[in-house]
Amino acid sequence: MARVFWFRRDLRLQDNVALNSAIVAAKQDGDAVVVPFYGVEIEDFNKLSGIRQWSLIASLDALGASVDRKLTIQHGDLAQSLITVAKAAGASTVHATRAFDPSGVSEQNRVGLALKAAGIHMQLDDSYYAVPPGTIAKGDGTPYKVYTPFFRAWFENGWQSPVQLEPGVKWVEPVACHGRPIATKSAPFRVRAGEDFALRTFERFKSRALFNYDELRNRADLSGTSHLSHALAFGEIHPRTILQDLADSGGHNVFRKEIAWREFYADVLWQNPDSLTEYYEPKFARMRYDTGATAEAKLAAWQQGKTGFPMVDAGMRQLLADGWMHNRVRMIVASFLVKDLHLEWQQGAAWFEEHLSDFDPASNAHGWQWTAGSGTDASPYYRVFNPVLQGYKFDPDGNYVRKYVPELAHIAGKDVHEPWNLIDGLAHGYPAPIVDHKTERDEALRRLDELKTN
Ligand SMILES: Cc1cc2nc3c(=O)[nH]c(=O)nc-3n(C[C@H](O)[C@H](O)[C@H](O)COP(=O)(O)OP(=O)(O)OC[C@H]3O[C@@H](n4cnc5c(N)ncnc54)[C@H](O)[C@@H]3O)c2cc1C
Repeated sequence: MARVFWFRRDLRLQDNVALNSAIVAAKQDGDAVVVPFYGVEIEDFNKLSGIRQWSLIASLDALGASVDRKLTIQHGDLAQSLITVAKAAGASTVHATRAFDPSGVSEQNRVGLALKAAGIHMQLDDSYYAVPPGTIAKGDGTPYKVYTPFFRAWFENGWQSPVQLEPGVKWVEPVACHGRPIATKSAPFRVRAGEDFALRTFERFKSRALFNYDELRNRADLSGTSHLSHALAFGEIHPRTILQDLADSGGHNVFRKEIAWREFYADVLWQNPDSLTEYYEPKFARMRYDTGATAEAKLAAWQQGKTGFPMVDAGMRQLLADGWMHNRVRMIVASFLVKDLHLEWQQGAAWFEEHLSDFDPASNAHGWQWTAGSGTDASPYYRVFNPVLQGYKFDPDGNYVRKYVPELAHIAGKDVHEPWNLIDGLAHGYPAPIVDHKTERDEALRRLDELKTN
């Protein structure tokens, strides 16, 4: 009897525990037939930026090639599509990797119920993490709210070794599929993705930058990080595969800690599903935030990279150009939105969701809440990033800004971080700052004080 494997955010064959469990069961059934399935809701897909659409398409193309071009891709209602596919294949079980984020959980609950009503069993295994959310807890059984003790317990807990793809599977496509979705927007470049590309990216990172990751990962002008976030977000590589190659040295240890941040945030979101869109620290919902036409205009300037602060604008334009932004710069632009423009973190998170090719619900929501000061393990609210000083520190020669902001390309060296000081700094259409940083910093702290006394 055939088994259906429902690919979700695990678009790979190697180190895929749930897929292996489908193959083992199919082999026990006798014919080793597995139907590879992917479902996409076209309305959701159409909302994404061009880069996000094309990165999913690239991932599906690569996955399709690795399953002998038998990937069944269905648009529209997921549960109904799975029932149709399972029935056509004569399968009584659909296998998948278990999700832990709110929309993944509600999706698997909904699909599970519909399958059950149709007489089909759903088997969920493993997770997108080395240690599944909900596993690590304090001695009294409650979840960790602070990263460092979580990391210690997570590291001590350990994880299973990566698993090899179970051999002998026969991929079958039982019904005509819709094929990969059609992109409604163009992307500025041809996105490369897929499991092989992810593994090669990791190999390159190990020889290129892992050894001094601890020193260079914060430099926006250098390629000091792994660029594995898209592959991790789509599950083209599992964190187990990465972790097993890490040794005990400066760069390796810090990199392991970054992988652990992803696991921590997934755990926090699993324990607090509302924190996807609500303030983790509820009192921040009472803070005064700006609304109305002026606030909308400021939001638009931030989104388009036209705030007049070079480091903020370079980051926002990198997001639109590449579908990715350096982590340090994500913190700078997030701090600017919340503390200089007095807008709510959810407005920034929604823009990131639309445009980031590595969008991950837990890392995005809690990356934002951390910067806004409302999250778990939050940076203290009074720590307001100064976008100019951050530029001098993490883009010391100004190369990052010049790369993404052509109106500033004529300015040599680090002077690019304060173009308003130069006689021709704003000569090529670059805007003057839309706010005064010191004034807005004081205002942000005043609003925080109000919160303390209210
Ligand atoms: C406001 C904000 C929003 C963010 N949104 C996302 C998001 O939607 N998706 C996403 O994957 N990351 C997000 N991050 C975390 C981080 O910026 C990216 O993971 C990182 O920039 C990806 O580049 P990389 O793969 O080269 O990272 P590396 O430095 O090479 O890190 C390796 C991996 O560790 C994980 N990681 C690293 N830093 C963090 C972190 N601070 N939090 C959680 N995981 C981390 C990622 O999976 C990353 O791919 C966000 C951070 C902030 C401040």
